[in-house]
Amino acid sequence: MSRILIIEDEKKIARFLELELLHEGYDVATANDGRTGLEKALSWNPDLLILDLMLPELSGIEVCRRLRHESDVPIIMLTAKDDVSDKVMGLDMGADDYMTKPFAIEELLARIRVCLKKRVRAAQQSAPACLTAGLLKLDAASYSVSYDGSPIALTKKEFDLLKYLMQHRGQAVTRDALLSDVWGYDYSGDTNVVDVYIRYLRHKIDEPFGIKSIHTIRAVGYMFSHE
Ligand code: CA
Repeated sequence: MSRILIIEDEKKIARFLELELLHEGYDVATANDGRTGLEKALSWNPDLLILDLMLPELSGIEVCRRLRHESDVPIIMLTAKDDVSDKVMGLDMGADDYMTKPFAIEELLARIRVCLKKRVRAAQQSAPACLTAGLLKLDAASYSVSYDGSPIALTKKEFDLLKYLMQHRGQAVTRDALLSDVWGYDYSGDTNVVDVYIRYLRHKIDEPFGIKSIHTIRAVGYMFSHE
């Protein structure tokens, strides 16, 4: 479940965005001034920021500039209609995208999806080639998985799923997130396929070696963890 922080002083807009994003299934927090927003961005560790530029306490540009010292979280700026210089400055300060007010919510939602996807891809590319959890070892370079040195034969999809779960170890991941990030389906479709593949993985990894690595998180999805 991706976390989105909204920093916007116009409370009506902030509330509207919050409701829309909650409805889309995101985890949402809001801040109504730049200083609080910056603090929240650093402490709450969001996956994406929606940042209004005209803010009290600390301007959006300043929030962006300071945040970039600490974090590469995607930032979508909200700007007033014809403020070209603000847009340019914001992009120069490291914002990823901008929306001009007033905007259509569908467009913002689409841009959010693009930003989040890019982030996932970047994280996957920079991820270490070898992932280990206890005696379980996954080598992305050679597409091999082993437990205590014994090779485990996985299909490509099982491998991708296990890799994703291991990369997100300790985090509950939703079936929708797995469908979109592992299968590449861009919709909330039939998630049965996820359950089927989880069963395959448990059958090949947990059962033969007597471990419990893939946990069911009720009403959410799955979590990889290994003591
Ligand atoms: Ca404002």
